[in-house]
Amino acid sequence: MRKLLVIGIDGGSFTVLSPLMKQGLMPNLAQMMEEGVSGELESVYPPVTAPAWSSFITGKNPGKHGVYDFMVKRKDGDGEIPINSTLREGKAFWDILNEDDRRVLILNVPTTYPPQKINGVMISDFLTPSGKKDFVYPGHLLNEIEGRFGLYPLYFKTPIIVTTPQNIEKFLEECRYALRYKFEVARYLQRKENTPFLLLHIWESDQICHWLWHIFDPKHPEHREDEAKKFLPQIHAYFKELDEEIGRTIRELGEELNTFIISDHGFGPVSRMILLNCWLMQEGYLNLKQDPLTQVKYWLWKRGVTPESLFKLYAGMVRRGIKFKSLPPVELLKILNSSKGRLLSLKDVDWSRTKAYSRMGYGQIFLHLKERGAGGIVETSEAEELKREIVEKLKGLRDSETGEVIGGKVWLKDEIYHGRHLKQAPDITFLPLDSGYIATGGFASNRVVTKDWILKGVHRMQGILIGKGKAISQKKRIDKARLIDLAPTILYLMGSKIPEDMDGKVLQEALTENFLKEHPIHFSKVALSEEKVEKREGSEEESQELVDRLKGLGYLS
Ligand SMILES: [Zn+2]
Repeated sequence: MRKLLVIGIDGGSFTVLSPLMKQGLMPNLAQMMEEGVSGELESVYPPVTAPAWSSFITGKNPGKHGVYDFMVKRKDGDGEIPINSTLREGKAFWDILNEDDRRVLILNVPTTYPPQKINGVMISDFLTPSGKKDFVYPGHLLNEIEGRFGLYPLYFKTPIIVTTPQNIEKFLEECRYALRYKFEVARYLQRKENTPFLLLHIWESDQICHWLWHIFDPKHPEHREDEAKKFLPQIHAYFKELDEEIGRTIRELGEELNTFIISDHGFGPVSRMILLNCWLMQEGYLNLKQDPLTQVKYWLWKRGVTPESLFKLYAGMVRRGIKFKSLPPVELLKILNSSKGRLLSLKDVDWSRTKAYSRMGYGQIFLHLKERGAGGIVETSEAEELKREIVEKLKGLRDSETGEVIGGKVWLKDEIYHGRHLKQAPDITFLPLDSGYIATGGFASNRVVTKDWILKGVHRMQGILIGKGKAISQKKRIDKARLIDLAPTILYLMGSKIPEDMDGKVLQEALTENFLKEHPIHFSKVALSEEKVEKREGSEEESQELVDRLKGLGYLS
């Protein structure tokens, strides 16, 4: 039986992997690249895990599936909740495989909690709320898996948000445990279920790049030789093991296999942060309330009572070896969580005097438009001019420390999104990532541009695509492949029709002429009223716990 294996290496980039391949640490990947097909894989805007995997799953741009970040608008439009699988609109490609009687294994893919009742097995991801044991479908499998392999490593236990030598050591141990565990479970389930399609997601690669980029990049301002000497071998060991596990899995699945190794986005260094709400306030687009409580918060914020300074205080104490029995990092994150109202936040904004604001973590700016409701003040007729003005200013934005223009790309929503959910999209997306800056929402610092005190690496648009197999081209480099092309390509390789409303296209340049000749591409019509899944919003506590976790992962500010 023809089989297809897709391994998603979260945050996988050639920037990290190519040097490792050259050093001989990843021989299986290197061989696949040499013999098969490879190239960069363009992520979605913004290149963030939740929208990126949602686009991979649906083959659609965020304007159609409605996921622009880890946080999604509530049904009633009032506020936001963390993403879960029921909030994504549009069919997953595995639903279509199931309809065509093909069983599937879908393992660890972000945004799949709660798991769907599919024909096959689905194991959800790190966005499973704490304590929930219903992240595996069918449910009885969890006991079997944990009985054999130990506790399922859904999350990290090490508070790596402060990188002390002890933390890094423990974190990397956890990474290697999770890596082995996930591959072993994948092979175990594959032997048991023998499905024609297997999708396995590996997450730790993304986390290593977020927290430890400075260790393997000598050009990073926080790089230290002693730290690199100590931990580089362990980071290499992780990637070496990743390569071995990939090789083992491919060999076990046999000759008739086609394999794609992909990532949801790339990675690169970050050292500076742009606080968009502070900037919008400075430029007069955002104004705070005048009431005494807000003014006290603002006064404190001006004098440095900010998440930035509190975090530095805490990190300094942890680094000096002070133990926090009564204040574990989770508690700290709750204190830092300005949405609780203790520190300056969007709750303190005077919406009747605010024309633009930022929320979410990757450079998204929203105009406070009348047409969106919620007390918007910007007339549609005024919007174009306002957008133009903000875009011009962003392009000229300077880092006050260096005096230099930051640069970066700015997009208007119509340029990068289309579909039913266009209205919810951020009006402007500002990505200065390639300059080593991340633009973020919140009021975490009282400076517009400051040192990124949390992350060492952040996402880039360029992910990876490596493929090998009977239907896949040999010794070929391709460019212009996009993450949204994977869903139609998978459907095509599995002999299914491709729904017309997918934005991606079959990656024909990655496939052999023979295969293409023997298998014409078929499309299917899509009824406008797709079946609706009941949307799950979860409890307040559950949402808060996930928000705290996302902050601890550096995904939310
Ligand atoms: Zn990711």
